[in-house]
Amino acid sequence: MLDPKLLEILACPACRQPVTPDEAHAWLYCRKCAVRYRVEDGIPIMLVEEAEKWDPAREQAGPGTQDREQG
Ligand SMILES: [Zn+2]
Repeated sequence: MLDPKLLEILACPACRQPVTPDEAHAWLYCRKCAVRYRVEDGIPIMLVEEAEKWDPAREQAGPGTQDREQG
């Protein structure tokens, strides 16, 4: 599991928005960019070139859906 304090400071390198981990903390998702970043041995790989495409629309119950953000 990732350190909650680490999660607080982690941000997507492309858009600087916070990223959301999945339950297993194997991936960190950026909904804005529709990409996910891999976590390797507890170390998040926050590199744009390592990001994997991910379609938020196809995973409607995905991570971060409880967030209530305005705008
Ligand atoms: Zn992003």
